[in-house]
Amino acid sequence: MLQVNNLTFQYKKKPVLKNISFTVKPGEHYSIIGESGSGKSTLLKLIYGTYDLKEGHIFWKDQEILGPKHKLIIGPEYMKYVAQEFDLMPFITVAENIGAYLSNFYPEEKQARINELLDVVELQAYAHTKAKELSGGQKQRVAIAKAIAKQPEVLLLDEPFSHIDNFKKQSLRRSLFKYLKEKQITCIVATHDKDDVLSFSDHMMVLHDTKIIAENTPAELYKNPENKLIASFFDEFNIIENYGIVYANQLKIVENSNLKATVKQSYFKGNYYLIEADLDGNIVFFEHDSNLEEGLNMCLSVLK
Ligand code: ADP
Ligand code: MG
Repeated sequence: MLQVNNLTFQYKKKPVLKNISFTVKPGEHYSIIGESGSGKSTLLKLIYGTYDLKEGHIFWKDQEILGPKHKLIIGPEYMKYVAQEFDLMPFITVAENIGAYLSNFYPEEKQARINELLDVVELQAYAHTKAKELSGGQKQRVAIAKAIAKQPEVLLLDEPFSHIDNFKKQSLRRSLFKYLKEKQITCIVATHDKDDVLSFSDHMMVLHDTKIIAENTPAELYKNPENKLIASFFDEFNIIENYGIVYANQLKIVENSNLKATVKQSYFKGNYYLIEADLDGNIVFFEHDSNLEEGLNMCLSVLK
């Protein structure tokens, strides 16, 4: 398994990560979440061996992952890293980019493998397009395909779908994560998108202020968010006296209760409306199946 022991790291004076320890089992899908600047990318880069460590150790199975002082080429051979700012060779085609790490010794196998990877990232139609002619999202998909071409044991993905539009994102996510599970590729994903995590991650951690402030399964953290930061990652929520953190979908209109609120605004959300209301001078949000007029008075109840 991947073992991160007591990692502390800083670029300059200010520490970015302090005493970070966690483990990821082989074949596991593990997510790192946190606000922008919380150190997600730094942690992935450290796992890849991009920087030398002054404090702490990282192991994959029984091998220590070492930084550039100890290694000529950055990155262990069993690991691939797709950076937030991925880079491709611009003047060769998508298929050639994806096959860049594959041996030319078995041309038929190489072509079959490239086709399989084009399917995973849904880029068959662009096989012969030059990388420089692709959109940001398409380039990101090529970078992912290239990283899994030689089937790494561990794949590090930094915000893997950040450049990909909503039309493609859902199906691509399912296709990629299913592929990685089938091949038992250990996958560590840095993200700020709950949809990358909820349906796919076995475990997740929350980075905040240089530390891991929570680590558990997505279901556990969703059901019992320990603080506002964790709740805000998952959904719209409220803090309600005597109840604590209450998601908008846990607050419902009832005949009578002592939570008396007045509608301020309704937001159409597709299969529901998000209602903004005034509850004793505080703004609360709840989900409702129809539009509600501003000024409407009603009673709310917490259904946890
Ligand atoms: P995230 O990926 O969660 O947005 P990063 O790991 O990119 O966060 O950054 C964490 C902190 O480290 C930020 O304060 C950022 O400004 C700083 N940082 C990131 N890369 C460098 C670098 N190469 N040199 C100096 N500071 C950096
Ligand atoms: Mg980042």
